[in-house]
Amino acid sequence: MTPIECANRIRLCLIQVNDISLAVKRERLLREQAEKLRSLAYLDGLTGIPNRRRMDEYLTDEFKRAARSGAPLSVIMADIDYFKSYNDSYGHQEGDFCLQRVANAIKATLRRPADMVARYGGEEFALILPDTPIDGAVMLAEEIRRHIENLNILHKTSKVTGHVTLSLGVSGILPNADASEKSLLAQADTALYQAKTNGRNRVVVYQEQLQD
Ligand code: GH3
Ligand code: MG
Ligand code: MG
Repeated sequence: MTPIECANRIRLCLIQVNDISLAVKRERLLREQAEKLRSLAYLDGLTGIPNRRRMDEYLTDEFKRAARSGAPLSVIMADIDYFKSYNDSYGHQEGDFCLQRVANAIKATLRRPADMVARYGGEEFALILPDTPIDGAVMLAEEIRRHIENLNILHKTSKVTGHVTLSLGVSGILPNADASEKSLLAQADTALYQAKTNGRNRVVVYQEQLQD
């Protein structure tokens, strides 16, 4: 082989190596973009916390895990009191800002990595608390309620106090064949409804007799 042929061969090899590294880079970029899109699809655009879709998936996974291990699982539903009149008084933009503050404040009370708060809808939040018995969930709910009250966000048309407050419903189970994650959420919702009718700015725990 002449020196020129040899040099050409080496160049060819280098070009091939470059081609491969480009393909690897492109694949990595595509994977990163897909991952980013996936996580964006799971986040609420306004508050940056997980959205309802993510919460549904997480609850299903955690319910199955708890059913296998026998560990307790609790959920909390929380809803801002008289939020419609907050928007009416201060405008939709201030309402959005208030939602962000409440979401951040709830998130800040969570201590375990497995605890999740998601925006369930409008001014409603859901918390999933794996490995947490109901009394622990009630303590956390009360802590969240106090925390929101202590933010002292002015709400002059609230019929509860002069600032923004939360009502919370709590339910918890030892998952088994008879229970379902849907019923767990429905129970927390029933308790939340009771917290509203009992005067708002309070925590109510689900009990069978609340069902009617
Ligand atoms: P209650 O104490 O019974 O929960 O009364 P409420 O006024 O909070 O409940 P209602 O369901 O009557 O009204 C909820 C309001 O939440 C309606 C809507 O104006 C407001 N809201 C929902 N989503 C958003 C949002 O993304 N941004 C803003 N600014 N307001 C929202
Ligand atoms: Mg509300
Ligand atoms: Mg609501």
